[in-house]
Amino acid sequence: MRRPIVKYGTEVLHQPALPVEELNAEVAALVRDMVETMYRAPGVGLAAPQVGVPLRLFVVDITLGHDPRGLITLVNPEWVSREGLQREEEGCLSVPGFNAAVPRPQRAAVKGLDLKGHERTYEGEGLLARAFQHEMDHLDGTIFVDRLRGIKRSLMLRRIQKKVRSGGW
Ligand SMILES: [Zn+2]
Repeated sequence: MRRPIVKYGTEVLHQPALPVEELNAEVAALVRDMVETMYRAPGVGLAAPQVGVPLRLFVVDITLGHDPRGLITLVNPEWVSREGLQREEEGCLSVPGFNAAVPRPQRAAVKGLDLKGHERTYEGEGLLARAFQHEMDHLDGTIFVDRLRGIKRSLMLRRIQKKVRSGGW
């Protein structure tokens, strides 16, 4: 089942998410729904807070579902390593219509649990490293807009607030 994606300004997006305590049927259903929601959007990643659930888990698939091996589900993820620097345009399903170049690691490795409770480690570079950092940020209540500085950030916030006020958000 597709779930509504909450937008910038919704409280759950701006606070740290809580660890998943138990890998039960509810969590499995949440992940299934998140995968469907991500593919239909379409997007390359989705974190649980984006569907209004304050739990530390995300799904990522930089192949957008074209390669069945591309889907990564991580519960209670932690950093293993982050190296290098890239600065590419990115956006967020919770901030529709906006994008900006954000500094991200060029390579990243992250570990966490799969839905069966097995520990998994994934390494990525380029887009995948960026997706990992973007989704990990969501679990800490950070949106890409928060990573912008100065005038770029204030301009984007002003444009978002304008949209919220006009009801187009
Ligand atoms: Zn996002």
